[in-house]
Amino acid sequence: MLREVTQSELESFPSLEWSDISRCLTRGVQSSLEKVLETQDGAVLSLEQSYELANAAGDDLLGLLVAANMVRAELAGNIVTYVVNRNINFTNICFVGCKFCAFSRGPREADTYFLTLDEIGKRTKEAWELGATEVCIQGGLPRNLSKFHYRDILRAVKNAVPQMHIHAFSPMEIVYGVELTGMPLADYLSMLRDNGLGTLPGTAAEILDDEIRHILSANKLSTAQWIEVIRTAHRCGIRTTSTLMYGHTETPAHWVRQMRLLRDIQSETGGFTEFVPLGFVHQNTILFHQGLSRTGPTLAEHLKVHALARLLLASSINNIQVSWVKLNRQLSQLCLHAGANDYGGTLMEENISREAGATAGQYTSPEDFQSLILEIGRIPAERNTTYSKIHIKMPLDDLIAEQALEAEFA
Ligand code: SF4
Repeated sequence: MLREVTQSELESFPSLEWSDISRCLTRGVQSSLEKVLETQDGAVLSLEQSYELANAAGDDLLGLLVAANMVRAELAGNIVTYVVNRNINFTNICFVGCKFCAFSRGPREADTYFLTLDEIGKRTKEAWELGATEVCIQGGLPRNLSKFHYRDILRAVKNAVPQMHIHAFSPMEIVYGVELTGMPLADYLSMLRDNGLGTLPGTAAEILDDEIRHILSANKLSTAQWIEVIRTAHRCGIRTTSTLMYGHTETPAHWVRQMRLLRDIQSETGGFTEFVPLGFVHQNTILFHQGLSRTGPTLAEHLKVHALARLLLASSINNIQVSWVKLNRQLSQLCLHAGANDYGGTLMEENISREAGATAGQYTSPEDFQSLILEIGRIPAERNTTYSKIHIKMPLDDLIAEQALEAEFA
């Protein structure tokens, strides 16, 4: 019987050395972790070995976290990136009814809103003036949306600021746009691309297993549809993120299968920019109040999912993002020690997690990100959406810290 690790052991795992913890591991876990450390490639793990890692407990869990941090240092280095962006959730009216969502409203509820195209343009301009390089646009799905509304949003943004990168529309919104226009999926995506769509969020994935999806949201797109939208977007030259929502009704086996599926898509298309684990925020959701879910992820689960992603996706998707809006300051830093290398976006007006009960705030300034990153001895850098450009943001008086970091580069 494996012992439970305590909260304080989990909080202090970054001080553990591999040479110490590796001696305490069960044989199977030790050999799997050594294999990934040696090859820096998650493809060396069989399905069974991956399940064993996903169920790691006690010292095995601590070993998993330490190994993930080592693989992160090899594959992503010591830099932690973030993007300066603004979230624009253009409406909260939605007919889909996902039980984990506390953001959406029925059309007759008192606090609905629908931003005009002018307002979207105005918010884009403001964001640009504040240094944003990206707008992230997603919203609810209102019935009777005008046929080409998603295209018109892109035009409004580009008219306001032609240089702004547009990261927009979940696969669910894409399926809705196809339904509204009657266009074939590839033509629809190409039309959006030609009107300024830069990248697509790989959201609406939650857990890519239809049984779980049915519990979370009976009206949501199916696993097969999600995969089809993502593959087609990649083929049309539109890169996407990839996501997984954990801490509700799923099991560790679902994490493993989803990460392996993402690996398969990546080896075919190369279109994923990053993987973003999204911790379920339960407080204000129907899913939780109907007794269908647990109370969100435990500390061990938060850390384990980030570490598992780093190991299983190694050499396939090498950017693992911490979704700071779902986590507090200290937990987001711990996840950066457990395999993650990116902080996501500054967001400026985050709404979705806040409505569900998250308390991390609606905006993290670039300066806040920089100090969070420097506090854990890593190097902050602003990136663009696709990670093709980064600017190191190391204050001059931290040069001493930079020298102290050299050992980790070696
Ligand atoms: S998650 Fe998206 S699709 Fe589902 S109810 Fe909320 S806004 Fe609608």
